[in-house]
Amino acid sequence: MKIICIGRNYADHARELNHPLPEVPVFFMKPESAVIQNNNPFFLPGFSNEVHYETEIVLKIMRLGKNIEKQFAHRYYQEIGVGIDFTARDLQRECIKEGRPWEIAKAFDGSAVLGRFIKKEKLPDPAAIEFQLDLNGQTVQKGNTRDLIFSFETIIAYVSTFITLKTGDLIYTGTPAGVGPVKINDHLVASVEGQVLLDFMVK
Ligand code: MG
Repeated sequence: MKIICIGRNYADHARELNHPLPEVPVFFMKPESAVIQNNNPFFLPGFSNEVHYETEIVLKIMRLGKNIEKQFAHRYYQEIGVGIDFTARDLQRECIKEGRPWEIAKAFDGSAVLGRFIKKEKLPDPAAIEFQLDLNGQTVQKGNTRDLIFSFETIIAYVSTFITLKTGDLIYTGTPAGVGPVKINDHLVASVEGQVLLDFMVK
C-alpha cells in the first residue's frame, strides 16, 4: 500500500503559506509506516519544533489502474475518509529553501493519521464534501471539496500517468486554509458532512 498526497490543492491554503498556485497537481508520497489508525494517539516527534495538522479528504483506491482517463476515474474509488497530513513545517521550510525532497518533513512515522471511511454514495454530493477539524473544541479548519483546484478525477488521472494505482492505496487530496501547530495533549476531531470520522490525541 502507498500513500499519495496532493500539495497546494486549495487556493486559500497555498496563499496562507505564500506558495504560488500550481499549474499541474503537486504530489508526494508517504510510506505505509506513516499510518496511524483506530483513533490511536499521534506522538510528537523529537526532530521538529513545529508540527502542523493538515486536514484532508482521503480517497481509498479500489482497483488497479494505470493511465486512467479522467472520465473513468470515479470508478477507482468508492470510499471517502478524512485524515491528517502531519507536516514538520520547520523542516519543510528548510527543504524548500535548499531545493531538497520533502520526505523528512512529510513522510515520518505517524504522519498519516487516518479516520474511518464512508461510501461515497452516502454523501449528499460527492463533488461538494464539507469537512472540518476541531482542535480542543474549536473549529480550526473548514473545507469543501468544491474549492479543490484539482478534482479527485483530475488527481487520479494525473497520478496514474506516472504511478500505477493499486487496491488499498490512499490519496490525501490536499488541505484548506487554517493549518497550524499541535502540542502535547491536543485533542483533534475531524468530521465529514457533520459525521465524526476521526478523534484522537497528540501525545
Ligand atoms: Mg497536505
